[in-house]
Amino acid sequence: MLLGCIADDFTGATDLANNLVRSGMRTLQTIGVPSTGAPDAPLAGEVDAVVVALKSRTIAASEAVAQSLAALDWLRRAGCRQFFFKYCSTFDSTPQGNIGPVAEALMKALDADIAIACPAFPTNARTIYMGNLFVGQVPLSDSGMRDHPLTPMRDSNLVRVLQAQSRAKVGLVAWTDVAAGEAAIRARFAALQAEGVRLAVVDAINDADLHAIGAACAGHLLITAGSGVAIGLPENFRRAGLLPLRANAAELPRVPGRAAVISGSCSQATNGQVAHWIESGRAAIRIDPLAIAGGGDVAAAALAQADSLLQSGPVLFYATAASEEVKAVQAKLGVAEAGALVERALAAIAQGLIERGVTRLVVAGGETAGAVVQALGVTALKIGPQIDPGVPWTATQGAHPILLALKSGNFGSRDFFVKSLEQVDA
Ligand code: ADP
Repeated sequence: MLLGCIADDFTGATDLANNLVRSGMRTLQTIGVPSTGAPDAPLAGEVDAVVVALKSRTIAASEAVAQSLAALDWLRRAGCRQFFFKYCSTFDSTPQGNIGPVAEALMKALDADIAIACPAFPTNARTIYMGNLFVGQVPLSDSGMRDHPLTPMRDSNLVRVLQAQSRAKVGLVAWTDVAAGEAAIRARFAALQAEGVRLAVVDAINDADLHAIGAACAGHLLITAGSGVAIGLPENFRRAGLLPLRANAAELPRVPGRAAVISGSCSQATNGQVAHWIESGRAAIRIDPLAIAGGGDVAAAALAQADSLLQSGPVLFYATAASEEVKAVQAKLGVAEAGALVERALAAIAQGLIERGVTRLVVAGGETAGAVVQALGVTALKIGPQIDPGVPWTATQGAHPILLALKSGNFGSRDFFVKSLEQVDA
């Protein structure tokens, strides 16, 4: 086990794991801090990196610190050599945290002298120049993040933003040094350390910058960053002779069995994906929130209806609806109640599908995926090949693995459901 990662949310964890796999590291994502004292025996030797997915982005800073330290403790006992604290590429945080407090607590626990802070992800149009974070062509503070309900970002200058939530001194490695390459970045780290800086915001505007930053951080015990910086790290381990060139980092077990799609996301993209599936003439069963609220066992009825359909091909179960329809349902049931009812029904359907021999399951919706994963008792996922940017196939652990594709909100092309199932044809 080489790289131990702590991510502050679930989809961010998958995004990071996906980047690591694509750079040649076999990667396991755990849901929360594993309860076992150390990694299961078969795991050791089978993965190069572990990403612990927390839900710590917007909880109290003290709680985020406690959870992150627990994750670090587990990763250290698992034998990881370097640690990565992953946050959002828009640096989602408040003056109370949680990026600064978690970064400082991890540095203290690791006795690390300096750590970078670099949310840049040029592939997704997140770049940093002179400490200022840009989302596409606009500064962070002019982007949609300005009015985020939980973490409104009203200052684009990351040195200021991070300093406001940190006790340690924050400095900048400007793009002029980054563009000059690994040696210049290292020299700048040394200069900053001499000035007492312990957290260094690092500029990056393209993937070459990320590779140079990765190389310059080879000796850092802790890296704090978005998922972009991860593309430069596997090369360090290869150079050190610790990581062979792997052609099979994304390999998942083949699982004969049936396939299905569960969709609880009501995003524009997901509405298009459901429409595409139905237009292509494939089997689909609609889940009606009002029928659930009416007290009927909608999940059992849907599963009974699916019994014969599943024999001839994959079936889609969808609560997905257009925004007017969702609003009408929410007005009748309340937003939280409508969401919870639908999530519970879809999770019960997922359980029923596994009992009916489904081994490949696509789930659309972040909260929906969370409910399904919880209902299936999934604690860790091996990350497989990418379907669309940020969304890989994954496999549950154990003797009878299930392949899961967990897609949040607006991800994926219009033919995502069809395409993903074709990719893992049994
Ligand atoms: P996304 O990733 O697109 O945000 P989520 O699954 O996180 O998707 O959130 C969608 C929420 O909407 C879930 O709580 C789900 O149960 C709920 N939901 C799904 N379909 C409907 C519907 N027809 N009416 C009301 N709420 C719905």
